[in-house]
Amino acid sequence: MEKDYLLRAMTKDGFLRAFALNSKNMVAEAGRLHGTAPVVTAALGRLLSAGAMMGAMCKGDADILTISIRGDGPVGSVTVTADSKGRVKGFAANPGVELPLKPNGKLDVGGAVGNGTLTVIKDLGLKEPYVGQTELVNGEIAEDLTYYFAASEQVPSSVGLGVLVNPDGTVRQAGGFIVQVMPDASDELIDILEKNISTLKPVTTCLESGETVEDILAQIFKNIEYDITDKSDVSFYCNCSRDRISKALISVGKAELQSMIDEGKEIEVKCHFCNKGYKFSVDELREMLICSTDS
Ligand SMILES: [Zn+2]
Repeated sequence: MEKDYLLRAMTKDGFLRAFALNSKNMVAEAGRLHGTAPVVTAALGRLLSAGAMMGAMCKGDADILTISIRGDGPVGSVTVTADSKGRVKGFAANPGVELPLKPNGKLDVGGAVGNGTLTVIKDLGLKEPYVGQTELVNGEIAEDLTYYFAASEQVPSSVGLGVLVNPDGTVRQAGGFIVQVMPDASDELIDILEKNISTLKPVTTCLESGETVEDILAQIFKNIEYDITDKSDVSFYCNCSRDRISKALISVGKAELQSMIDEGKEIEVKCHFCNKGYKFSVDELREMLICSTDS
């Protein structure tokens, strides 16, 4: 299977930039780890794909981007974290949600997410992280992000995201693009871009017909001169460790730790992001209780 990759492109005049990726393996890995039902695979997969591209927009090596969608639909919340090196992880609050297909035969991501908010947190190593929040437009994620970029970051953008799930629940195709208009772009340039975007088929249709990420970029920038400035790997990657989980456990506080100890049996804590389980014995919990500074 071909590796996932992300392309970064810039028009020669510098007024448009684009990110596009194939994220099939990343989304398939997320689905496998979390055992997501198809509509959740699509919701999580779209957000993971967006996360990979938005992570690539961050400049610093240590920058961390988190996108969180909280809706009143049955999936609850979907959270994705990405770094600037293409490492992305994420989870949905309710991975097993099943919904009927929409009348057009598509997975009902908007129905699974519902109404709510989209929050983007960028930890750029400054004192305070950047936090932007907007209302969800329709819960389909691409439109929600388009609105977020316009309203919160004041960057006119076009976002396309797609996940195609096989009847057996495995991921058939996944990918996406984000095109952004820089300040002072001419109306002529924007007209050409809008025309190109309006005739672009859905990302999964393009991928399904054998088109590459390069082909999708070529359609977005049809009749516009551009350069692909970077090609990089993207993957589902969780940096959890026994040490991190243990620190998180210590932070729950003395009372909570004491009640776990009183239960008298080992506990298993699962990493939210990758579902990996970490077991801790009663003796280890006692040691944590000593480390806990909570009074
Ligand atoms: Zn993990």
